[in-house]
Amino acid sequence: MPHNTYSICQLNDILSSARAILPFPDAQVNTLLYDSRKLSNHEQALFFALKGRRDGHHYIRDAYDGGVRNFVVAGNYEDHTCFPLANFFFVQDTLRALQQLAAFHRKQFDIPVIGITGSNGKTIVKEWLYQLLSPEYTIHRSPKSYNSQLGVALSLWQLEDIHDMAIIEAGISSAGEMEHLRQMISPDIAILTNVGPVHDDGFASWQQKISEKAMLFEGAEKIVYSPKYTGELSLDGQQAFTWGDEGEVDLKVIQMRSLDRNHNEITAVYREETMRIVIPFTDSAARENAVICWAVLLMLGYGHADIAKRMVALQPMKMRLELKKGINNCSVIDDSYSNDIASLSIALEFLKQQQQHTGQTLILSDIPGVGYDEDKIYGKVARLLKENKINRLITVGPVLQKNREKFSFLFHEAFPDTASFLSSLSPHSFENETILIKGARSFLFERISKALVFKTHETVLEINLNALEYNLNSYKSIIPEDVKLMAMVKAFSYGSGSFEIANLLQFNKVDYLAVAYVDEGVDLRKSGITLPIMVMSPDHTSFEALLTHKLEPEIYGFSILESFTAFLNRHNIKNYPIHVKIDTGMHRLGFQQGDIAELAGKLSATDTVQVSTVFSHLVASGEQAHDDFTLHQLRLFGEVTDTLSRGIGYPFLRHIANTAAIARWPQTHLDMVRLGIGLYGVEEGDCTRPLQQVGTLKTTITQIRQVMAGDSVGYGRGAVLAKDSTIATVKIGYADGYDRRFGNGVGQMIVNGSMVSTVGNICMDMCMLDVSDTGAQEGDEVIIFGDIAQMAEKIGTIPYEILAGISQRVKRVYFYE
Ligand SMILES: *Cc1c(COP(=O)(O)O)cnc(C)c1O
Repeated sequence: MPHNTYSICQLNDILSSARAILPFPDAQVNTLLYDSRKLSNHEQALFFALKGRRDGHHYIRDAYDGGVRNFVVAGNYEDHTCFPLANFFFVQDTLRALQQLAAFHRKQFDIPVIGITGSNGKTIVKEWLYQLLSPEYTIHRSPKSYNSQLGVALSLWQLEDIHDMAIIEAGISSAGEMEHLRQMISPDIAILTNVGPVHDDGFASWQQKISEKAMLFEGAEKIVYSPKYTGELSLDGQQAFTWGDEGEVDLKVIQMRSLDRNHNEITAVYREETMRIVIPFTDSAARENAVICWAVLLMLGYGHADIAKRMVALQPMKMRLELKKGINNCSVIDDSYSNDIASLSIALEFLKQQQQHTGQTLILSDIPGVGYDEDKIYGKVARLLKENKINRLITVGPVLQKNREKFSFLFHEAFPDTASFLSSLSPHSFENETILIKGARSFLFERISKALVFKTHETVLEINLNALEYNLNSYKSIIPEDVKLMAMVKAFSYGSGSFEIANLLQFNKVDYLAVAYVDEGVDLRKSGITLPIMVMSPDHTSFEALLTHKLEPEIYGFSILESFTAFLNRHNIKNYPIHVKIDTGMHRLGFQQGDIAELAGKLSATDTVQVSTVFSHLVASGEQAHDDFTLHQLRLFGEVTDTLSRGIGYPFLRHIANTAAIARWPQTHLDMVRLGIGLYGVEEGDCTRPLQQVGTLKTTITQIRQVMAGDSVGYGRGAVLAKDSTIATVKIGYADGYDRRFGNGVGQMIVNGSMVSTVGNICMDMCMLDVSDTGAQEGDEVIIFGDIAQMAEKIGTIPYEILAGISQRVKRVYFYE
C-alpha cells in the first residue's frame, strides 16, 4: 500500500542528496513545506528552501523556530550549524529535489493518472472530468489551478491510497518546463485542450509551443487532442483520440446551437453515429471544454446515453473563496460548492489568516465519495481542525454525525442535513466570529451562506486578494532583500477594505502599515492586526487612543512633538517610537531643513520618544518632467537625515519612496519603501510594472425598457435619443462614487461582454445605460470598472480619487483563489 510517510533514510535515497547531516535519522516526514508562513504539522514536516522571488534559505530560521526539524537546502548553504536540532539534506537544486520526491511518490500508485495541459481550459476540463467521473472513481485532482513546477509537485504529493484515479493539471510558460512536469506526472492519459497565440508567452514560435506542450504526451498510453490546434501529431505508439469540427477526427462536431438562455446543444459524429449532448452553459469556451470531456469519456468507453445524462448535469465551478460581511458582526468565508481534503486545507489556511475575530467556526458537510475510507479521511479532517485551531464545529450529514467522537476536542454540533441545521438557527446563533462554510454541492450550503451573509445592496466592489498578493510580490522582487516595506492602507486601503487587506499584508510579512488617522489604526488593532502601524495625521485629542493601541505617530512639527512628549511624560512612558517627517518639497507637513539643528537638540535631550524612522515624500516621482526635482528632494533628504543622525546619536530607518519611486528610482529605496497605489493594481507615472487588477466594481440590471427616438432619458432631459433604444437602469449613482461626469456617454460599462455607454445624467443612486443590440436582460451582471486608470482619465482625475471615492455603502467582497 502506498503511504504518505517517508523515513529519513528513504528520503536520503529519493532526494539523491550530495551530502546530508542527519542527527535524527528516526524522524518521519508526511508534510511538505516551502513557505515559512504556512507552517503545519511541524514535527513531521520537511521544509524545502526554494529560490523563488525570495530565497527560502532566509526563512529557515522562522521555520526552525516554528518547530520544523527537517530541511532540504542548496549545496552551498552554510548556516545549518545554527540549527543543531535538525536534519539537513544538501542538494544541487531544491525545487528539482522536491519534484523528484513528488515523482517518486506518484510512482507508488498504480492507478490511471490523467494529465491536462493547454493554453486555456485546463482547470475547467479538470473540474468537469472530476464531476463526470466521480460516480465510478475516488479521484484526486490538483487543487485550484496548482499547475506550475511547484504546484504540480504539491498536487502529486497529496495522492493517497484512497484514490483510484488522479487528474493533474500542467501549466508551462516557457520552453523546457514541460519535461519536468511530465517526469513527475507521468500520465497514462494526456489531454491537450488547445493552443493559444504565441505572443502571450515565452515561446519562440508556435511550433515550439506545440511541441513543448505535446511533450506531455510522451510515454502516455492514450492521448486526446484536436489537430485543429496542432496539426497531425506523429505518435509513437500512443492511442490517439482526436476531436474537432474539421478534417478526419474521432469526434467530429457538426453543429452547436443554443436551446434557450442557459443551454447549448452540441451535435457530433462518432463512429458514424450522430450524437447530441446538451450542456447548461452557452459560452464558446464552455462548449469547447465540454467537447474535450466528451472525447475523454468516449475514449474511456462510456456509452452515449450515460454521457449525455452526465453532461447536462455539469455544474459551473466556483473555485474561489469569498470573504463577506456576515450578520451580527461576523465574517463569512463562503466555499459552499465543493468539499474534499485538498480544498478544505486551503480554505482553513485562509481562515487562519483572518485575525478580526478570535472565534473561528467551521460549518462542514460530509465529504462525498469517501466510502470505506471514512475512518481515515475524517481522522485527517480532525487533525486539520486541530492544527488550524478551529474552536467551533458544526457538521451537516450522517457520516460526520456518526464520526462525532473524532471531534470531541472541540465544541461540536452535528446535524443530519442542511434543513435541520437551518431550522435550528436563532438570531444569535453566530456573533463576532469568522465562519467558514465548506460544503459539497449536494448539501446546498448556498442556503446557509444566504442565511449568514449580510444582505447587500446589489452593487459590490470585488477585491481579488490573489492579485493584491501578486502586486505586493512584484514590488518586493525589485527591492533588495534588506529593504523593508511599509504598506499604505490609509483611506480604507485606497477604498479596498481595512482588516481584510491588512490581514493579508500581515500574513505576507510586510514590515509596517501606515494609516492617515488614529481611528483607522484603532480599527486595525481591534481586528487583530499586530504589525507596527504608523499614523500620519495624529493630533493631541487622539494621543490616548494612540497609546492604548500601540500606534506610532508621525511627528511633523515642534508643537506636536512637544504636546506628545508632555503627554508621554504624564504617563511615565519612555522610548515611545515616533516617525519624523521632513518636508523636502511637498510643503504639506514636516520639519524644514532649517529646523533640524533645533530638532536634533530636542530629540537627543529626551528619552521619552525614540526616533524609529525619518521620512519624506516625493511629489512627482512618477513624472519624467520632474526628475530633477525628485533628485533634488532625495539629495536634500540625505543631507537632513545625516545631520539629524549625527545630532541624535542613534540609528533610525530612512524612507522616501512611494509606488512610482520604487519602480523608477532604485536609489530612493534606502532602508524602507512605502508602497501605496501599486499594491491596488494601478500603475503610477511613466514606468510600468506588470500588475494585476485588484478591484472590480459590479452591479446588475434592475430594469430594462424600450424608449422611442426623440424621448429623453434622465434628469434635466440630459439625453434625447436619436433612435429607438433599449435602456437599462443600474443601481449605481454619484452617492456610490460614480462621478456625475460619467454621464451622457462619457462612462462605459460592460454587459455580457459588450461595452455600453451611459445615457443621460447620472442620478444619486442609479444611472441608465444604452444596451440596444446587446441582448441584455434584467438581472444581468454589469461591470462598472476594470481599468481604473482609463476611467480616471476620461473625467480628468487620477485613479486615487476614483478608488478612494467608492462609497462605503458599496459592499466589498473579497475573494481568494
Ligand atoms: C499615500 C502615501 C504614500 C503612497 O503613495 P503611492 O503613490 O500611492 O504609492 C507614500 N507616502 C505617504 C506619506 C503617503 O501619504
